[in-house]
Amino acid sequence: MMSVPTLTLNDGKTIPQLGFGVFKVDPAETERIVTDALEVGYRHIDTAAVYGNEEGVGRALKNSGIARDELFITTKLWNDRQGAAESRRALEESLGKLGLDYVDLYLIHWPAPAQNKAVETWEAFPSYRDEGLTRSIGVSNFDYRYLPAILETGIIPAVNQIELHPQFQEIETRPLLAENDIKIEAWGPLGQGSVDYASTVIGEIAAAHGKSWAQVIIRWHLQRGHILFPKSNSRERMAQNFDVFDFELTDVQMASIDALENGGRVSADPAEVN
Ligand code: NAD
Repeated sequence: MMSVPTLTLNDGKTIPQLGFGVFKVDPAETERIVTDALEVGYRHIDTAAVYGNEEGVGRALKNSGIARDELFITTKLWNDRQGAAESRRALEESLGKLGLDYVDLYLIHWPAPAQNKAVETWEAFPSYRDEGLTRSIGVSNFDYRYLPAILETGIIPAVNQIELHPQFQEIETRPLLAENDIKIEAWGPLGQGSVDYASTVIGEIAAAHGKSWAQVIIRWHLQRGHILFPKSNSRERMAQNFDVFDFELTDVQMASIDALENGGRVSADPAEVN
């Protein structure tokens, strides 16, 4: 099996383009599930304080015996901890739960516009990087409505982690990201399993390649340059989602998947998450 490509972020750090996400992974099962993912070959794990499973992630990392510098670990600041001083305490708590001296990437989870603290919080983030608590800093769910205020600080995020799958491609946000060399991390990359992608053109493309609809979507993301970390509790699907480096979509196939865009979010609008 070919290895996972790495991308270089705008701060010079590298990130494995394909990882494993643990949203809605039961804290009691997290250690087992992340252990499976590491055994399958994943080295990039995406968690968040609000997922409540950082401790299980940490135990799996420790028990794996995998060298720290081979791992890429992301966690996120929850909305109720925004603010300069509070976000530092929250990061220190996350590191304690993960059992790590540093994370590779720390993100503001949502803009939380009703609180109006995102800019103040963001201005504190470079100090966490400078002190070695995180290697890179970024944001999540800052679409074209919320990213400009972040960019005005002059501190450019390494990534923006946003809902993105074939029927919801964040068309209005993408130019801002490209202009600033901010990498896209696509969350809900498979539409959270709630879109019937198998009965679209993706199903036909999958049959042509002898792959599953999920593998075709993962390939589409990789070829578009997105970072992604599909989630599954099943080891068989973890392995399937990792087995995507032995085929390639044609330009025509890529374009036919692009054409599925219909503005159809499957999850929350950032305006409404506070
Ligand atoms: P996803 O698109 O990865 O979908 C996961 C679901 O797809 C699974 O529960 C399963 O039902 C299905 N699935 C997975 N592999 C499959 C396969 N091979 N065949 C058929 N079905 C399959 O959705 P997600 O978990 O929400 O997103 C991935 C990660 O993104 C999360 O685990 C989390 O780390 C991150 N995330 C971040 C935010 C944010 O606000 N920043 C929000 C949601 C998710």
